[in-house]
Amino acid sequence: MFNEYRSIGITGGIGSGKSYISNLLRQRFGIPVYDCDIEAKRLTVTDEEIRGKLIQLVGPEVYNGEKLVRQRLAQYLFANSEHVGQVNAIIHPAVLKDFKNWADRQHKPIVALESAILYESGFNEYVDYVLFVDAPKEIRLDRAMQRDTASAERIKARMQMQYPELHRKLADFIIDNSKADDSYLEKQLKTALLYLRNR
Ligand code: ADP
Repeated sequence: MFNEYRSIGITGGIGSGKSYISNLLRQRFGIPVYDCDIEAKRLTVTDEEIRGKLIQLVGPEVYNGEKLVRQRLAQYLFANSEHVGQVNAIIHPAVLKDFKNWADRQHKPIVALESAILYESGFNEYVDYVLFVDAPKEIRLDRAMQRDTASAERIKARMQMQYPELHRKLADFIIDNSKADDSYLEKQLKTALLYLRNR
């Protein structure tokens, strides 16, 4: 069917509604969305190359049988500022390769990729178009606290590591998700898709 596809990168700060909008794209627009966070977690278990490289970098204790020992990996990541880059250099290319294979298998004209770290991972370079999900900080905080049953401090600490202002400027399209209103969201998504189709 379609050998070529256009790809959309979906990003935004914590609690902005990336997953919510990904679900709307799947359910209302029939657009398949690759969730980088979920797929990266899957690949750390199933991908032999990642396994081998992580064991070489961190040590055999980073796996317990099949399972990745997240606590050990986190400990390694915090131990030295260079470690994050080393681990990312193992995981990100594998996720990108997996995304491309997945996208080919969809046989759809438009596919999407959801990532909280789209710009940090450099994946923005590999998508045709970036859609930034926007909502005021207070709303994002409330949503994330409710979803994760986490404290405001914990969410705020994660927010401090993100750069929504910069990413909003870099994106091709901004989706306002400040209201809990699906028809308002669908209207915006329709406009964004029309723009993408005509580009
Ligand atoms: P993100 O993936 O950006 O961290 P989520 O999509 O998980 O954010 O949204 C955070 C929480 O807010 C979730 O519980 C989600 O269901 C809810 N939420 C986000 N946008 C809406 C919306 N437009 N209407 C209703 N609930 C929403």
